[in-house]
Amino acid sequence: MDVKKCKGPCGQTLPIKAFPMDRDIPRPRCKACFGASRSVKRVDQHLVDSIDETIVNFGTPIQRACAEALLATGSLEAAAESVQLTPAVLRAHLTELERVAAKRGYAPGGDMIKPSPVGFSVKGVSTLYNAKGHVSQQWVKTRRDDEERLQALLSAVGALSSDWQSKADPIDLLPSAVERDNDILNVFPMGDPHLGMMSWAPETGHNFDLKIAEYNLFEAVSRLINLAPPARRALVVNLGDFFHADSKANTTTAGTPVDVDGRWAKIINVGIRVMRRIIDRCLETHDEVHVICEIGNHDSHMSIVLGVCLAQFYEREPRVTIDTSPAKFHWYRFGANLIGVTHGDTVKARDLPGVMACDRATDWGETLYRMWLCGHVHHDSVKEYPGVTVETFRTLAPGDAWHNASGYRSGRDMKLIVLHRVWGEIQRHTVGINRICSPNEG
Ligand SMILES: [Zn+2]
Ligand SMILES: [Zn+2]
Repeated sequence: MDVKKCKGPCGQTLPIKAFPMDRDIPRPRCKACFGASRSVKRVDQHLVDSIDETIVNFGTPIQRACAEALLATGSLEAAAESVQLTPAVLRAHLTELERVAAKRGYAPGGDMIKPSPVGFSVKGVSTLYNAKGHVSQQWVKTRRDDEERLQALLSAVGALSSDWQSKADPIDLLPSAVERDNDILNVFPMGDPHLGMMSWAPETGHNFDLKIAEYNLFEAVSRLINLAPPARRALVVNLGDFFHADSKANTTTAGTPVDVDGRWAKIINVGIRVMRRIIDRCLETHDEVHVICEIGNHDSHMSIVLGVCLAQFYEREPRVTIDTSPAKFHWYRFGANLIGVTHGDTVKARDLPGVMACDRATDWGETLYRMWLCGHVHHDSVKEYPGVTVETFRTLAPGDAWHNASGYRSGRDMKLIVLHRVWGEIQRHTVGINRICSPNEG
């Protein structure tokens, strides 16, 4: 069989049929090397055509430098040399610049020449061409960037909540028959409350709405407080998906439509109110209350808003601290106990021990009892890994129509975990849904 050595980057000895033919004479480079160089040339020509003075304004400093070099020299090789980068790296910077500009509505090669305002990205463009192939009309649809949406939401909530900033009424600590124990921490993990969810009994077996959600949540915490040993500290943990929907479009953060009860503003109001009632109830029997608001996949924005509102409300109440970190992991250290909290939608349980050891290396070394508290899956589970347990919790909410139809049938309850500063977990209490069930649930 006839073979030939390729003079392209692969340098392999290949059969003649692997080489493109030019008038029955095989070319020096094999088909793969020949095709690669042609497609690189096509990309280069496209970039030379599409980079202009306007597109430069969309770039980061390095992208701008690359684009200006290309405009000055007119060729990718020369531009790469002038900014002391390899052609491949220059090509990557310019392609990224082109992508960012197109997202903002500027791509002259595609007849998109109307950039979107700052804070908006282009959702779609429809162009009507006339018989000569010129643009006769164009519709540009824009949408708010996620980051901008969160900022707008936070500033709106900041303005709204300024009226009641630091307005928390002082709550009297109720008398206790025995001294409150400084070595005990009462932990109240609230599994996925899904406030605002609507469920209809004929369809799902259970009625559920905003009123029932508030009643059940407060009732569960209240009953657990009655069972709790006298302790100086309480830790209230919202495990995420506190709100069922993340915006008045009645969708989760990712845009999945969900069954919602009531108007968005009403749901926020009830959500903040029930958290205040829970915190105030804890203040009656604990000297200090710490609150963690985990970020769920249903309420990535609203969970942050909830934390910010509560922090403002209790700003001048020294007995309450609210963790307002927008991170996906939250931490609490109590003596020899280390608690990690995450919703559970972004990391697999088996990776959580490593996250804790890495992010809290000092605390890991100084503690003996380490636990992750997670939500998201709506059922009980505990998995023990070397040095740490990962626990998921049930929710008080029933399944919505989608969960019901998908066959999810988990039990519903809320738990209190009692930790000792030296001995770790020493008690646990459970309040099942049938003990507290709202009269309206049916
Ligand atoms: Zn959930
Ligand atoms: Zn979730």
